Order: sequence, then C-alpha cells, then structure tokens
Amino acid sequence: MVCGAPMAIGDNGRMTSPALSGVPQQEASARCPCLSGSSYGECCAPYHRAVAVAPTAERLMRSRYAAFVTGDAGYLIDTWHSTTRPSSFELDPFHRYFRLDILTTTRGGMLDTKGTVEFRAFLRVDGEVDEQHEVSRFVKESGRWWYLGQD
Ligand SMILES: [Zn+2]
Repeated sequence: MVCGAPMAIGDNGRMTSPALSGVPQQEASARCPCLSGSSYGECCAPYHRAVAVAPTAERLMRSRYAAFVTGDAGYLIDTWHSTTRPSSFELDPFHRYFRLDILTTTRGGMLDTKGTVEFRAFLRVDGEVDEQHEVSRFVKESGRWWYLGQD
C-alpha cells in the first residue's frame, strides 16, 4: 500500500495562455513593474484588479505601463477614454518593457480634471533595446482618470 503518493496529474500539463506565454507573472510581493519602488501588491495591483482607481494621472500612467509589462490588455482598454478607445487592442508578446522614466507631469492631481504625463519607456524587441517617448493626455470623469491619447 502506498500512502501519501502525490497525484501527478496536472503538474506537467499546467495551462498557460498561448498569448501570454513568456510574459512575466507578477507576484504581489515582487517589485512593481512600474518601478515606483513599492511592491506590486501595494502599487499597481489594486488598479489592475479593479479594487481601487488610480488617484492621479501619473498613477494611472504607471499602472498602464505596468499592464504593458504584465500583458494585461484588458486593463489598457478599461482605462482608455470611451472617445478614443480602440475596439480591440492586443499587446505584442515580443515587446518586453523593462524601464519607465516619468519625465514631467502637468496637473493630473487629486483636484484636477486634466493632466499630461511625459514619459520614456524602454523595451526590448528581438533583443534590441527600443524606446518610446510620449506625452500622454488624461482626463478625469466620473471620479476616475482615463487615458485620452498622446499629444
Ligand atoms: Zn506600480
């Protein structure tokens, strides 16, 4: 009689979404991918899980960047303003974002209804480092910040 023999079923056949294969999964205790210095659980995770909304344009910008890192296209759509939101949006699984620099912000605070965030994001594409420089525009409506687009 064999006692305590583990069931092997399922260990090898762990399901992963083909679209997300290779995308780093984020532990709550890990450093937040937006590089705020806080843990993911204390930084962008509550926004990604829709248990909180980003209080400032910059926090929304950071959480959207983190969604690029974690492969969360749904969050990008959900935080896109309805007037500019694409009907579908897919992340390129070969784009590996690894650094975000916030350069300047204008307004976008708790008491504002508009704001911009200028940033530089760095990514690897096929092993080559690329960078994306953008001035993103945000608007606050219905108590939430939304991504409008870039200048
Ligand atoms: Zn974060």
